[in-house]
Amino acid sequence: MVSGIYRVSHEGHRAEHLATAIAGEQFPRCRRCGDSVRFRLWMEIEYMPRDWDLSGPNLLLLKGATPRLSGGQA
Ligand SMILES: [Zn+2]
Repeated sequence: MVSGIYRVSHEGHRAEHLATAIAGEQFPRCRRCGDSVRFRLWMEIEYMPRDWDLSGPNLLLLKGATPRLSGGQA
């Protein structure tokens, strides 16, 4: 799956609603309608911790500080 907001459709017991999912996770079963629950991508989103520009490897963002590289042991 891709990270995004999904429309969730249940088997009659609940109106369609929106829910967020993150790439790499699995769609859950519904506690009430089990595997009958359906997920349809409504809007793809970028999950910040997995966005290269926002949080690439070793990038340490400190509040109020200029982004800099951490670690870097020779
Ligand atoms: Zn359900």
